[in-house]
Amino acid sequence: MPLTLLTRRDRYRPLLDRLERLFQNMDRAYDAVADRYGFHCDGCVDNCCQTRFYHHTLLEMLYLQEGLRTLAGDPLRDIRDRAQAVNQQMAAADQAGSSARIMCPLNQDGRCRLYPHRPMICRLHGIPHELHRPDRGIIRNPGCDAFFEQCRKQGKTDYIPFDRTPFYREMATLEKKLRHETGYAKKIKLTISQMLEILTDNAHEIH
Ligand code: SF4
Repeated sequence: MPLTLLTRRDRYRPLLDRLERLFQNMDRAYDAVADRYGFHCDGCVDNCCQTRFYHHTLLEMLYLQEGLRTLAGDPLRDIRDRAQAVNQQMAAADQAGSSARIMCPLNQDGRCRLYPHRPMICRLHGIPHELHRPDRGIIRNPGCDAFFEQCRKQGKTDYIPFDRTPFYREMATLEKKLRHETGYAKKIKLTISQMLEILTDNAHEIH
């Protein structure tokens, strides 16, 4: 489990610094395009914090852990309790075969409690984008419903190029280096609440 990797934190910390720079570039690129559309994500009915996204990198998990390291006591316990509750609700929904939308345990009153440490998809979701796949060519994806609604009203739906490929590529490069540095080889497919439950399982190890 990633918590045990904390003993090797000095070795992987430089990679988290590089991830931080990657996230800064991502945020800048996203904001520039969103501004051109006049799109502002400030909460909506179809809140993407209720969407079940899976995350696949150890890097993002360790970065989330860095965010948790800035918290202590009650906030940390509260996040752990919320994460456990969300995971139970998700398991119950799966068992019932329903696709319930359940709010991310980090979302409190519409705000992300670990906003600077949120994963990649939380930064990129919303605006239309393209992805250049060696096997499938260029894949275009529309924006979220809120984007379409806001921009349609302003008549600004013409596609403004936003290519996620360089960000995904850099993320893959950093992840590969991290796996090499840590020797952690297991595949990861976890929601934010599942990551949080693992990361807060032994809260004393985080501090
Ligand atoms: S990590 Fe933050 S931005 Fe991402 S889904 Fe959770 S509350 Fe929303």
